[in-house]
Amino acid sequence: ALVVRRRIQSVVRWARAVEIVKELEERCATPIGLLKQVANAMAMEMQAGLASEGDSKLKMLISYVDNLPSGDEKGLFYALDLGGTNFRVLRVQLGGKERHVVKQESTEVSIPQHLMVGSSAELFEFIAAELSKFVASEGDDFHLSVGSQREIGFTFSFPVKQSSIASGTLVKWTKGFSIDEMVGKDVVVELTKAIEKQGLDMRVAALVNDTVGTLAGGRYYDKDVAVAVILGTGTNAAYVEHAREIPKWNGLLPKSGDMVINMEWGNFWSAHLPITEYDQDLDLESLNPGEQIFEKLISGMYLGEIVRRVLLKLAEETYLFGDTVPSKLRTPFILRTPEMSAMHHDATSDLRIVGSKLNNILGITDTSLKTRKLVVKTCDIIAKRGARLAAAGVAGVLKKQGRDTAGGGKQRTVVAMDGGLFEHYTIFSKSLDSTLRELLGEASPSVVIKLANDGSGIGAALLGASHSQYKEEVYA
Ligand code: BGC
Ligand code: MG
Repeated sequence: ALVVRRRIQSVVRWARAVEIVKELEERCATPIGLLKQVANAMAMEMQAGLASEGDSKLKMLISYVDNLPSGDEKGLFYALDLGGTNFRVLRVQLGGKERHVVKQESTEVSIPQHLMVGSSAELFEFIAAELSKFVASEGDDFHLSVGSQREIGFTFSFPVKQSSIASGTLVKWTKGFSIDEMVGKDVVVELTKAIEKQGLDMRVAALVNDTVGTLAGGRYYDKDVAVAVILGTGTNAAYVEHAREIPKWNGLLPKSGDMVINMEWGNFWSAHLPITEYDQDLDLESLNPGEQIFEKLISGMYLGEIVRRVLLKLAEETYLFGDTVPSKLRTPFILRTPEMSAMHHDATSDLRIVGSKLNNILGITDTSLKTRKLVVKTCDIIAKRGARLAAAGVAGVLKKQGRDTAGGGKQRTVVAMDGGLFEHYTIFSKSLDSTLRELLGEASPSVVIKLANDGSGIGAALLGASHSQYKEEVYA
């Protein structure tokens, strides 16, 4: 009788597990009609954010970049990139029209977790120290054209309200950074203080968001780049807007007529977004509740964490992973998106990789094939929802630009994409691409998605060059 009872119990539990995943799938559904509504909402919020300060979830930040690289940029420039899990420093010798990037070198350092939530002085001193080490390793094949002061393009991948090309205050932190005292402070002032403390003779010539850097880097190689999207730890987009279509801009109209806008689309919200109880809990328990809702559905920092929350529910309600809930499964952020991706892409017939990841990361032992399949299904639901929403976001930007219809002439539009999620999570990027094609319909052939691998580093250096204080002398 006991055996029979156990047998019945396990059938009931399995049925409940399947039901939970089925409910998840329904809640996360993104039919094309819904995606079109999301794209429309994105385009409308863009308009609202351009009209005035604070009227939209989209900040639509003015970058002060009114000219993208021309190819004429010359000289030695440095770039600093801060914003994700790693921090990068780069130097590049720019050779003008004929020679482009003559030589480039870079280094990458991971940011110790405690510095992300410590003091701003500590964070910037750490950065300046790494910069100093890197400058010291500069060889003879790099050389300044004029003077002795090195210039930097600083990519700072958080929302910044700029007051010029090389100054701006932090609006808020995102992506696991949280240093309260820094909010409202000028990012360049803080970096410059730390640089001086190192005894380095360097000047920040441009402060840019990573999306803006990617747009600039993309444009250097392809003149049709008009949008840049980051899908990495966080997510965001920048694009080229007509300056006269920015009501809140009260400066002079730039000669080019253009202004690059950093949308900060991670903070987008619309009633059409398919949000589940897992997302709501994740948001409430995050460092920034109520903020960056679009980002929390899409980006690399969160996808694995959403999956973990679903698996925890399965463990608690259906004992899917045994009679006791493995304690690691209760640890926030323990399941990182690259590991989720590895499980999702598992092509072995017995889903061996899923089995070993569950075991090694979450302490879930002895899973059956059907359990592993259910885990893969969960990854699939969460990844595809994110990818399809990201595609809707891109479609919204193209719509705002009038580049979403075949009738808009034969203009080619290139969307430069960067970020680890887009680069490495193949199922995600393929789903994004095919969804965007479906949304664009007839206009699809004129839109090209290009991977701009670390375009933002080169882009920041290029913008540093075009805003160099020595520019007149170099071109005299
Ligand atoms: C930040 C953006 C950034 C994006 C991608 C977001 O969390 O708010 O400024 O561009 O991440 O790095
Ligand atoms: Mg980055």
